[in-house]
Amino acid sequence: MIVAVDGPAAAGKGTLARKLAQHYGLAHLDTGGLYRAVALRVLRARLDPTEPVGAEKAARALAPADLADPDLRLERTAEAASKVAVIPGVRAALLEFQRAFAFKPPGGAKGAVLDGRDIGTVVLPDADHKLFVTASPESRARRRWAELAAVPGRPSLAEVEGQVRERDARDRERAVSPLKPAPGAFLLDTTDLDIDAAFAAAKAYISGPN
Ligand code: C5P
Repeated sequence: MIVAVDGPAAAGKGTLARKLAQHYGLAHLDTGGLYRAVALRVLRARLDPTEPVGAEKAARALAPADLADPDLRLERTAEAASKVAVIPGVRAALLEFQRAFAFKPPGGAKGAVLDGRDIGTVVLPDADHKLFVTASPESRARRRWAELAAVPGRPSLAEVEGQVRERDARDRERAVSPLKPAPGAFLLDTTDLDIDAAFAAAKAYISGPN
């Protein structure tokens, strides 16, 4: 069983994907982490994330240890991730890894949940179940801001909302694999839902009402 979960930043898709994977006994891949890891390599090499040659090289050099780096979660990494993500060669380099994970999940799992921006549209168009998770930009910014509570010098709510909107625009407007719902995807708006309610709705879509 393969489940694709797509949506904009901070809509709750990562938490939802993890819970679905746990519930159905599937492996989980946060594909945003791959783009963040490429971005981190580029930033550490002091290269420009919009420059294709260095970014493609970084994507091809990715190693498992890159995916465990705590700096992946930084907002400046996310911003650079959305810049390397517009480069076709970067997307091509990450495509096979994502498909291999889905078709041959690690740990002998009987399937996989992948979350990202283009899983249902490009990476796994034949996924058994496709969800598109959204929420209003204001509520997504509020959630992201709340997550940053413990961070020293945390940006203001308005700054976080600006960052979220800027990244969304870049993800929606790019030429290659833009963020959009896959045909037939189940649309889940989490603006007024907590994680338990979102999980219940996703489970009902996947398993049917019973
Ligand atoms: O999901 P996350 O916020 O970690 O993603 C970081 C960035 O990686 C996104 O803003 C997007 O530009 C890019 N991304 C993508 N395709 C995916 C997953 C993430 O382009 N499947």
